[in-house]
Amino acid sequence: MRTQVAVIGAGPAGLLLSQLLHLQGIDSVILERRDRDYVEHRVRAGVLEHGTVETLREAGVGNRLDSEGLRHEGTELRFARAAHRIDFAELTGRTITVYGQQEVVKDLIAARLDAGGDLRFEVTAVALHDLDTDRPRVTFDHQGEPGALEADFVIGADGFHGVSRRQVPGLRVYERAYPFSWLGILSEAPPSSQELIYARHANGFALHSMRSPTVTRMYLQVPLSEDIAAWPDERIWSELHTRLATDDGFALTEGPLLDKGITPMRSFVATPMQHGRLLLAGDAAHIVPPTGAKGMNLAIADVRLLSHALAGYYTERREDLLADYTDFALKRVWRATHFSWWMTTMLHTDPHDDAFSEQLALAQLDYVTTSRAMSTSLAENYTGLPYERGWSYR
Ligand SMILES: Cc1cc2nc3c(=O)[nH]c(=O)nc-3n(C[C@H](O)[C@H](O)[C@H](O)COP(=O)(O)OP(=O)(O)OC[C@H]3O[C@@H](n4cnc5c(N)ncnc54)[C@H](O)[C@@H]3O)c2cc1C
Repeated sequence: MRTQVAVIGAGPAGLLLSQLLHLQGIDSVILERRDRDYVEHRVRAGVLEHGTVETLREAGVGNRLDSEGLRHEGTELRFARAAHRIDFAELTGRTITVYGQQEVVKDLIAARLDAGGDLRFEVTAVALHDLDTDRPRVTFDHQGEPGALEADFVIGADGFHGVSRRQVPGLRVYERAYPFSWLGILSEAPPSSQELIYARHANGFALHSMRSPTVTRMYLQVPLSEDIAAWPDERIWSELHTRLATDDGFALTEGPLLDKGITPMRSFVATPMQHGRLLLAGDAAHIVPPTGAKGMNLAIADVRLLSHALAGYYTERREDLLADYTDFALKRVWRATHFSWWMTTMLHTDPHDDAFSEQLALAQLDYVTTSRAMSTSLAENYTGLPYERGWSYR
């Protein structure tokens, strides 16, 4: 088998790249380890930056997003039992959209298959070969048969636990493990607020989010190695009520739980994001703690860069756009890594911290919610930075 671009992984990064390449007349084949149902029902991110929404529209998958996505013009920071709104639209002219990652994935799979795309699920034993030649190959097993795919480029969009990153020699890794985890629930309850609520409380962080007008997504900071068995539903609700409470009587609506799980919080950045004809995208190269809602948005930004660089290669034989892919991608990745770290430390209680750190975090929250300059900084990072190559903050 031969294609122009072999893509490993059918997460948001791999699927979107394949779709953007198709729109530019470039062929690709996607190899995915899991089955379609699993990939389409994996509950993960849900906040789409302004530019992510535009990119998905440009990719031809904006219809359901536009009709079902919830457009938010701001968010709320809550501490000391008081609510403070950050108005994204007024501060930056941009908004965010709440639309589940699994819905983005469903839309992209449907679009690829409708266009006759070659998308293979339940592919195992993926191995990459000859990456430093101009004829890289991928070998794999599919439906009990061994297969081999020759391509011009291989894209490692196989997430944090994939095989691609290990093929980059001399990889440098920057890492930060946070001393707590998030317990996430999906509940069949209408959201108790129109917008997301990020709350700092002496017991720890809480986030009120949503996926639709009838489904709420909420998170609680829990100890690092917490066992989910320690959190029966009644304890989760009780803690959410406590951490989200305000003096003006905020009421939290409860409902049956549809999903519940614990995720450790970690930052990870690997560089370079390429070796020979292998290019990494999304979680395969970097992950951030979800407090800044950046993980999926970064994956999409990587893929935008890659689709332009590959289009430059195929239309004008340009190699320069591919050569500086890592530098351009990492500029955004490090900004998002800092923003995610900043949001995380400001909003969580660190078990190793003292009363001094608690006062610093509260002083920072007070500053962010009362200074227009600081609110604008949060808003511009949260709604997403520009995509232009070589963008600056001015
Ligand atoms: C529990 C959880 C909650 C999250 N919550 C948020 C959030 O609230 N906000 C946010 O912005 N981000 C969140 N994230 C991060 C976000 O979901 C990721 O950043 C996003 O999925 C990255 O997309 P991707 O395509 O790079 O990787 P993935 O979505 O991980 O896709 C990689 C794909 O590659 C496949 N694969 C792996 N290995 C192989 C192999 N050897 N061969 C073939 N295929 C392979 C995998 O099955 C997967 O389908 C969360 C992540 C997790 C795990």
